[in-house]
Amino acid sequence: NNSQATQLKNDYQTVTELYNHILLKTVVGEKALKYLQKRHVSAETIAHFQIGYAPAANDTVVQFLQTSNRSGQEIISSGLFAENDQGEIFDRFRDRLMFPVTDQSGNVVAFSGRVLQTDDQVAMAKYLNSPETPIFNKSKTLFNLAAAKKDIRQQGEVILFEGFMDVISAYQAGVLNGVASMGTSLTDEQLYLLNRITQRIVICYDGDQPGIKAAQRALKLLKNKNFEVAIVVIPDGQDPDEFIKAQGSAAFVKLVRQKTLSPTAFMIEYLSRQFDLTNDAAKVDFLNSALEYIGANDSPVEQELYVKQLAQRLNISVTAIQQELQDKVRSQK
Ligand code: ATP
Ligand code: MN
Ligand code: MN
Ligand code: MN
Repeated sequence: NNSQATQLKNDYQTVTELYNHILLKTVVGEKALKYLQKRHVSAETIAHFQIGYAPAANDTVVQFLQTSNRSGQEIISSGLFAENDQGEIFDRFRDRLMFPVTDQSGNVVAFSGRVLQTDDQVAMAKYLNSPETPIFNKSKTLFNLAAAKKDIRQQGEVILFEGFMDVISAYQAGVLNGVASMGTSLTDEQLYLLNRITQRIVICYDGDQPGIKAAQRALKLLKNKNFEVAIVVIPDGQDPDEFIKAQGSAAFVKLVRQKTLSPTAFMIEYLSRQFDLTNDAAKVDFLNSALEYIGANDSPVEQELYVKQLAQRLNISVTAIQQELQDKVRSQK
């Protein structure tokens, strides 16, 4: 109900400020602050995203919210705590860097907490998200949407990232219209939210295999929706955050502006990596998959463009490929 939601939002705001204070102003927070500095996250960025630190102790939030005054139901449904076998409650987030997640009005409604170790040392989940609560539904939430809304409108497009750190690094690089889904695949509900503020989506996922797979899934979801879609492929298997750290902000801005592949160009690139193009049979399979996509998705002018590119790349005549495409289009009807 309404008063419960208000109470929850108050709690999340209070805890956000607490974690942020611990990060910036206490000895306990120093190692987390060092970690952020190592990742080149500035003080302004920390303030903008209200990043914080949840200490290793298991009762920081338990004490701070004085949970002894609260009903069991209230405590459990907040998502801020967990309960052990003895029925004792303790803080869900411990020894993690904390990223507040807001709803569309900018109220904090969840957290994502990252462990401080680098990837190869991690035995537990790298990111831990808040559970679903009366105020948080992750399939209807996009990280940074409330803060980015104005810039999304201004730029006329939204940039979709995989990770929180990608959104944050992009922000620091001056790219302010980025959002990320909550560590899961993109959903129809998220697209619905975006569609109310923009008709153009730029997918900027990680340049590794999982990122490319995720981009392909996103393209499927975006098919027949009211969006113009473009894709930025980050080179060398990096993610946007790694690219920015390695190449600098200007290079990233340039990549986003210029190297925007059309969905079809992306699909051709993606498919070409699935086949051994030195093998004739594989070449034919690749061509068939590519033409199937082109036939189903592109206008006659676009089709001609891609047919010419494929002909050149595969050293097959335009006429033969054109013929193949016509057959495909006919059989799709
Ligand atoms: P970092 O740069 O901090 O290492 P990342 O964003 O590059 O993190 P990826 O491994 O590329 O991390 O994953 C992309 C996104 O998927 C993360 O930002 C996070 O939202 C989500 N994610 C990753 N690992 C987990 C996990 N173990 N549990 C839940 N969500 C996760
Ligand atoms: Mn990844
Ligand atoms: Mn990544
Ligand atoms: Mn990363």
